[in-house]
Amino acid sequence: MSEKITFAPISYTGWGALDYLESELKRLQVKKALVVTDPFLKEIGLTEYVTKPIEKIGATYDIYTEVVPEPPLAIGEKLVSYTKEHGFDAVIGLGGGSALDLSKIAGVLSTHEGKVEDYLNLTGSRKVSHSGLPTILIPTTSGTGSEITNISVLSLETTKDVVADDYLLADVAIVDPQLTMSLPPKVTAATGIDALTHAIEAYVSKNASPVSDALALQAIRLISSSIRNAVFNGEDREARTKMSYGSYLAGLAFFNAGVAGVHALAYPLGGQFKIAHGESNAVLLPYVMGFIRSSCEKEMKDIYDAMGFSSVNLSQKEASLQCVKELKRLVEEINIPLTLKEFNIPESALDSLAEDAIKQKRILARSPVTLNLDDIRKIYQSAFDGIVLEK
Ligand code: NAD
Repeated sequence: MSEKITFAPISYTGWGALDYLESELKRLQVKKALVVTDPFLKEIGLTEYVTKPIEKIGATYDIYTEVVPEPPLAIGEKLVSYTKEHGFDAVIGLGGGSALDLSKIAGVLSTHEGKVEDYLNLTGSRKVSHSGLPTILIPTTSGTGSEITNISVLSLETTKDVVADDYLLADVAIVDPQLTMSLPPKVTAATGIDALTHAIEAYVSKNASPVSDALALQAIRLISSSIRNAVFNGEDREARTKMSYGSYLAGLAFFNAGVAGVHALAYPLGGQFKIAHGESNAVLLPYVMGFIRSSCEKEMKDIYDAMGFSSVNLSQKEASLQCVKELKRLVEEINIPLTLKEFNIPESALDSLAEDAIKQKRILARSPVTLNLDDIRKIYQSAFDGIVLEK
């Protein structure tokens, strides 16, 4: 078997990576930049990390702050129209996945005809056909990996969908942990589990390869060994740095191998109940992995070891069962609710959640075992009750 491996052209990682922004702005010959960020990040002054280098090279900029978490399609449409109208020559995204995803569609779709809706994966009629404006992506959460993936996620009425194409890849990703120091514990926990889920789903994916496996396992090691410190001691630079690298590697892993059941079931939770993406993944992670465990026992054993435990005296089955237990314990320890009940989701909604999740065929295709509507309904029930079920 052979596979395509894709990376964004240039990444700068590690503490101080932002120092490279100025030379990249010069290299890309930026004269008038659109900075896409959310209002809170502007309020706390993180935007200065971007505006100062822009000023230094004598370029101008607009700061666009109409970004909301889990951005709905309408916000994307508005931003793309704004970008088309104002003649920018580059887009700089600063923020969590919400700001970065919007920056990607602003960069690419502002040079395309039609609406954002036309380019959606599930229902769209048009295809992205050429590159857009140069784009620099700078994450301020350690979670989504959006800075190095080729998708933008948008919220629809009852679920989520993506615009996906390699033209959405950033020209430059700058992943600097110093920008994550201000993340509050709740967002650190949710985004951290998002990153861990990317790595785990990539590792058990049907599309996994030796390349994505290496990225995924190292991401699991980094995240598992630092997430608790990052949540409970946000000042811990080493923990923030490990989370930043972990999230970046997990992004590269899932971009190349794909995510599966956890994400397919999380999208309707975000769409129907507006639960933050990381929390949607977290509340499903132990139940989806428990349900599919027997189809990926060996991989679950490896994940258990990468999480810092030892499977030496355990059978493959025992280690994989322990892995599910430890995932559940981790979610609980970092104070994310462990059941759909605790998120106030009514049991009566489980049918419609399952009907929306089964539509995510692109994602479900990577699951190590096929999940049908009945399986998905069972997993939602197990996440509602807080009891891990097996397929
Ligand atoms: P987010 O961007 O929605 O931000 C969550 C909150 O954290 C916001 O209120 C924001 O103001 C705050 N925040 C961000 N950085 C901060 C900082 N440094 N200090 C203090 N507060 C900060 O959260 P997210 O989880 O990063 O992104 C979620 C979005 O990304 C969802 O729409 C999800 O579907 C999408 N996503 C995209 C990809 C991809 O590959 N494109 C992958 C996974 C998820």
